[in-house]
Amino acid sequence: MKRTGFSGKTYERPARVFPAPIPAGQQRGTYASSQVVAPIAKMDVCRHEGYRRLVALLPCKLCGVDGYSQAAHPNTGKGTGTKTDDRLCFPLCCDRPGVRGCHPQFDQHALMTKAARRAIEPAWGADTRRQISAMGLWPANLPLWEAPLNATPVGQLETS
Ligand SMILES: [Zn+2]
Repeated sequence: MKRTGFSGKTYERPARVFPAPIPAGQQRGTYASSQVVAPIAKMDVCRHEGYRRLVALLPCKLCGVDGYSQAAHPNTGKGTGTKTDDRLCFPLCCDRPGVRGCHPQFDQHALMTKAARRAIEPAWGADTRRQISAMGLWPANLPLWEAPLNATPVGQLETS
């Protein structure tokens, strides 16, 4: 039984044509950029709650206060909304009555410039790993940190 006035005839869908990408430097608007940004290679991100707890036992890297530390992840060189490897964490203190903690301030970029953070985060992470190893507390089931091959060497920072 015919239900509609439309014929049931099938036809070939035309091939989709995508516009050619606009060469760098010719783009207009919000995303215009004269430089091609290299994608950040995806790393195997290791999560280890035991290690984060060890990090939180150390005094705050920024103000040195003891007993209020949280494991802070570096915020540079990662995608929005993603966390970096737990072995890159360093201790920063949390908010407490009457005191604004270093961790929230650091995460909100209130304490230092982006360039300064980029420079100090790897050093803090390395120092934290060294401290935990030196105390003989490195978790047996956690592989030691090896810098990825595409990592930016400390001191050779890209400008932003
Ligand atoms: Zn602090």
